[in-house]
Amino acid sequence: MSITLPDLPYEKNALEPYISARTLEFHHDKHHKAYVDNGSKLIAGTDLADLEAEAIVRKVVGDASKAGIFNNVAQAWNHSFFWKCLKPNGGGQPTGPIAQKIAADFGSYEKFAEELKNAGVTQFGSGWAWLVLKDGKLQVTKTANADTPVAHGLKPLLTIDVWEHAYYLDYQNRRPDFLSTVIEKLINWDFVNSCLG
Ligand code: MN
Repeated sequence: MSITLPDLPYEKNALEPYISARTLEFHHDKHHKAYVDNGSKLIAGTDLADLEAEAIVRKVVGDASKAGIFNNVAQAWNHSFFWKCLKPNGGGQPTGPIAQKIAADFGSYEKFAEELKNAGVTQFGSGWAWLVLKDGKLQVTKTANADTPVAHGLKPLLTIDVWEHAYYLDYQNRRPDFLSTVIEKLINWDFVNSCLG
């Protein structure tokens, strides 16, 4: 099985009061699981069945006849990555090598935080805000629906899910507040550093 549902790297209530256990129950146990189940069904018995999720999305991106595979497998990958980007008592000023790189490439942490929040706020409809590495430089970007930087040769370092299912139970329509809270309270900079390599 190339696509699996990982356990959350923390308890369901570990991100409270910023993300509720109820949100994580639905988001991980229902939404993420559905992408994994549907993606697995769609690739079963095909030449994609034994590939890693990253390889599958690179292979089928842009192929309209395989949009269902792309959407489900990309969402499975995006969510597995997203859980690792969060931790209790995270967020705020970065530590480690990413701190210097953010200062060098954005000018300051504050500038970066503003850009990341803005990417999430301005993503029309469902999607994701990202920090990626492109040609050795940090870049904030956003993707719509299931789209993922890994399908386009970019190296993701951090993401925030801005689909309504990520925040509606806790924040209703206040997506900007959800983004600010994740950035200030939940980003796992150790994980971001590990992605920077
Ligand atoms: Mn989601």
